[in-house]
Amino acid sequence: MKIAIDEARTGITAGHGGPFGCVIVRDGKVVGRGHNEVIKQNDPTCHGEVTAIRDACKNLGTYDLSGCELYTTAEPCPMCRGAIMWSNIRKVYFGCNIADTDSIGFRDKVFYESPEDISEELDRKECLEVFEEYRAINDKKSY
Ligand SMILES: [Zn+2]
Repeated sequence: MKIAIDEARTGITAGHGGPFGCVIVRDGKVVGRGHNEVIKQNDPTCHGEVTAIRDACKNLGTYDLSGCELYTTAEPCPMCRGAIMWSNIRKVYFGCNIADTDSIGFRDKVFYESPEDISEELDRKECLEVFEEYRAINDKKSY
């Protein structure tokens, strides 16, 4: 966690974004690290956890971070929780909680309490055709 805190401090000092740092560890070794770079990259997805996941995947040459643990200075938002699940990380340690994050002006809390209904089904039939093409490609691979 100390390394995650150092990452967060590096990020705010450089003006990269919020005070969010993250480290990913496998077998006791740091395999990825990062901090919030939303402002630096002009990218709302550059949260500390996502930045660290990208770093770990690049360093390990894989999209599968099974067996890794993640340390983050703040409880992951829904986007990062999703990225953590997709990367197969199954243990997360966080420092500050959602209420702490809310108290310094970040809006994660609203995503948990009243997510906006912004999705609507459109052109399902055409999209399903691509799904079928994918299935056909992968069915051939299994032989
Ligand atoms: Zn996040």
